[in-house]
Amino acid sequence: MKEKRIVITIDGTCGSGKSTIARRLADRLGLVYLDTGAMYRAITWKALQTGQDLNDRRALIELAERTEIRLRRGERGPRVFVDGAEVTEEIRTPRVTNAVKHLADIPEVRSEMVSQQRRIAEAGGILAEGRDTGTVVFPDADYKFYVDAPIEVRLRRRHREFAGKGIEMTEDEVKKDLLARDAADKSRPVGALRVPEGAIVIDTGATDEVEENLKLLLKHIKEVDRVDKLIS
Ligand code: C5P
Repeated sequence: MKEKRIVITIDGTCGSGKSTIARRLADRLGLVYLDTGAMYRAITWKALQTGQDLNDRRALIELAERTEIRLRRGERGPRVFVDGAEVTEEIRTPRVTNAVKHLADIPEVRSEMVSQQRRIAEAGGILAEGRDTGTVVFPDADYKFYVDAPIEVRLRRRHREFAGKGIEMTEDEVKKDLLARDAADKSRPVGALRVPEGAIVIDTGATDEVEENLKLLLKHIKEVDRVDKLIS
């Protein structure tokens, strides 16, 4: 009989550094990186692309159910495909980011995404990252992390991130954007962002060094050797 393969979840706020940490940790442990945010972005991209009315719940649910999302490993990070076409870059635009809420707030859309995420996980050792991976998708995960940082640190990081992408935003605009995303993430009726039961809370506020923050998680994963065995 095959041994059970490890599942790790990382949820947290935006600007906490969780995505960078999640990718690095998945690489380090040889786990499949499941970027659940990319899946919500992918269906949102398709809704925009096909001119859906973002207030038409029924249409959005149907769209989620008949969209094929694929996540593949790429040399420069994970690649995302919608119905066979690559949308890795397209799903990261502010237009998509601002519209995700319309789909992510619909319980039926979330339940479709959750089913797909669980199916992906059947294949093997997985590191799932998002807002509800430890609370809803994999509540029985081997390790559940919740990554956060003080608001001023997250603001600084977001400001730098936007500047790096050539998006000009004042500090006030970045703050408004971040607070709006926090509120949307924490208040949705299903899949709201919260600390999962039994999760280890990681505060990345002390440093922007990814390696240092990664160590904060790694020290809790006692079975790193075992992980290698489990996924081989
Ligand atoms: O993590 P990322 O910023 O790429 O997520 C994109 C959007 O998808 C966020 O606005 C977030 O609210 C939503 N999301 C979600 N549930 C998840 C992951 C992301 O609702 N598990």
